[in-house]
Amino acid sequence: MTHEIAVIPGDGIGQEVTPAAVEVLGALGIDFQFVEGEAGDAVEDATGAALPRETRAIAADADATLFGAAGETAADVILPLRRVVGSFANVRPAVSYPGLDAVQPGTDLVFIRENTEGVYKGIESEVADGVRTCTRVITESASGKIAEYGFEYARQNGYDDVTIAHKANVMRQTDGLFLDTAERVGEDRGIEYETALMDALAMHLVMHPEDYGVVICPNLAGDMLSDLAAGLVGGLGLLPSANVGEDNALFEPVHGSAPDIAGDGVANPAAMILSAAMLLDHLGYDEDADRVRTAVESTLEDGPKTPDLGGAATTEEVTAAVIEGL
Ligand code: ATP
Repeated sequence: MTHEIAVIPGDGIGQEVTPAAVEVLGALGIDFQFVEGEAGDAVEDATGAALPRETRAIAADADATLFGAAGETAADVILPLRRVVGSFANVRPAVSYPGLDAVQPGTDLVFIRENTEGVYKGIESEVADGVRTCTRVITESASGKIAEYGFEYARQNGYDDVTIAHKANVMRQTDGLFLDTAERVGEDRGIEYETALMDALAMHLVMHPEDYGVVICPNLAGDMLSDLAAGLVGGLGLLPSANVGEDNALFEPVHGSAPDIAGDGVANPAAMILSAAMLLDHLGYDEDADRVRTAVESTLEDGPKTPDLGGAATTEEVTAAVIEGL
């Protein structure tokens, strides 16, 4: 059976790490058909649209999408693309690997981030000169859906610790609803969980990440806490993510376009290749996904390293080592 994979490299290092992930997928012997689409700053400059209609159609029609990064136009590209694939959950694992100089070597966290609402709804206004507002939207249905997904993810993947992150003591209406709804899901399922104020949680995650497993978060909190966790395990070059919908999904590294190193050929491809492993899981190729993860892990431990991990290797050299490891 052929699987159609939309490939949208986007801007900056997206152009370097996305081909690396495609090369790894291509080396597995699975019948993938890759269909490339354009998006990002350069396309907007050339055509006036950061996310052309054809690219939306490619992502909508594909079985799954691999997305690299977008620069200044990120909000105009990734937010609509997440809608195109109907994504309600953003899954961001942050794991520390042997052989890397991580701040916290015992980290094994998965952030389950609500992906459709909160302050990322984009409802902002200038209500008077010098006064601007942002409307935070929280619904019972989206909160319930992300909590269901998070508790189910913990059960399926063997995580005993589930934490619901919130700030309901200040945002009483919005996070009050998020917290009540998520707690109800945990109780209905009979799964133990704890709740944590997101600011205090940020501190505890830095000091004792080993006390946590799956963290269910509202949108912005999930974005920020997962970047914090990237710092614990060795940097943004290591964190993959999945944007999961009912029947479609998009996979992207947590990092952005990294304009400071774009074009130098030294971007760490691990986050993007690990995102491709999540794509394999999604399509049911669990053994291939494990092969890819094992090859990335052994490359990180013994193989060439890009400069963000203290080495001097290029993106291509690391990718070749991963493929060799397969
Ligand atoms: P954007 O505006 O697109 O989000 P940014 O530079 O603000 O770009 P990131 O792209 O996430 O944010 O990069 C943050 C930092 O992490 C930069 O110093 C970048 O070089 C580094 N970085 C991110 N991804 C990688 C990677 N894959 N390999 C090496 N360094 C990376």
